[in-house]
Amino acid sequence: MTEQRNIGRCYCGACSISTTADPLTVLYCHCSDCRRWTGAALPAFVAFTTGDVAVTPDVPSARYESGAVRQNCPDCGSPLTAAFPYLPDQIYVPVGVLNNPDRYPPQLHCHVASKPKWLHIEDDLARETASGRDTLNEAFDD
Ligand SMILES: [Zn+2]
Ligand SMILES: [Zn+2]
Repeated sequence: MTEQRNIGRCYCGACSISTTADPLTVLYCHCSDCRRWTGAALPAFVAFTTGDVAVTPDVPSARYESGAVRQNCPDCGSPLTAAFPYLPDQIYVPVGVLNNPDRYPPQLHCHVASKPKWLHIEDDLARETASGRDTLNEAFDD
């Protein structure tokens, strides 16, 4: 069995996040859903294969109208994981709750058309105007 590595925790520390695998990709998402859910002006997420990430304790998940299934710490509310029907077998963890964000440099911008106007991107990463789902699904095909 692969070793469980502790990679993150919620704000209050009641929930921890661990994984047995390396992430498949890391991305910024500029969409308003991700902005609201994380509270960050520019949230970034680490993408793992579903089943490679565990939240301890296993807190309840909520399904939203969009179909997204999200886990938040029941005590402090920190966002922990998100899964989406159009991104099968993938689970997304906000970089902001990870212990060592330096390990997860983003590789892609998604939903660039939805970013705040004052936010100027000054990197050479690939940019998707809208959803990056095709690119992300391709990344998981390997
Ligand atoms: Zn918490
Ligand atoms: Zn988003």
